[in-house]
Amino acid sequence: MRRPLVAGNWKMNGSIASVDSLLSGLSQLKMAKTVDLAVCPSFVFLQQATAALTGSGIKVGAQDCSPVSDGAYTGDISASMLVDQGCALVLIGHSERREYHQEGDALLAEKLATVVTLGLAPVLCVGETREQREAGDAEQVVGEQLRGALMNQSSLEGLVIAYEPVWAIGTGLTATPEQAQAMHAYIRNELASIEGVSANETRLLYGGSVKAANAVELFAQPDIDGALVGGAALDAVEFGKIIDAAA
Ligand code: 13P
Repeated sequence: MRRPLVAGNWKMNGSIASVDSLLSGLSQLKMAKTVDLAVCPSFVFLQQATAALTGSGIKVGAQDCSPVSDGAYTGDISASMLVDQGCALVLIGHSERREYHQEGDALLAEKLATVVTLGLAPVLCVGETREQREAGDAEQVVGEQLRGALMNQSSLEGLVIAYEPVWAIGTGLTATPEQAQAMHAYIRNELASIEGVSANETRLLYGGSVKAANAVELFAQPDIDGALVGGAALDAVEFGKIIDAAA
């Protein structure tokens, strides 16, 4: 049995004060013992988050990291710095990184290798654009993203996949549970052909306008093992309801 995972991606939101109040809201939630939880704040709030959430059962993750271990890379954040800050996971290849920072599969494969070596769990994000779906290319795009990042890795320990159709992110347009399930089943099938991945044990999260109102139906699908939540994760009460839906 795969344990559900609900992770919040706070993206580039928050201030010290608003993060404080979100963290205090999260620490008041009644945690479902059957669900793994994580939040991914902006880098500048990682220490604040790990300090507040230690012992709470909510893990802290980052939204990105450098593929390189250290050195003269102005503005970058290394995976070992994330470990030092108490992070347990890191998002790799979020569609906003792919789109606004031109991150491609070769770079993402390097990032993945780096984080796995340090014991961080990589959450590899994949997903097609609306144009790609309308052209009938969604599976091909997602398959290439998976193979591009995961092939020839020496270890994929802790790997989580987040399927986030770009057209559903921040748009209020959620994939239907059937659409999401169909892609998750495809992803699991593809994972089975990649060396070093246990397809049955790998958690597949859905992301894209997840809210309390649609979470139950999404989580009822056999290949959906949780969610990567954007906007709704900025509200502790709403996030709590999504967690309850996964329990
Ligand atoms: P929304 O939940 O705001 O659509 O964002 C999804 C997402 O990109 C999570 O990584």
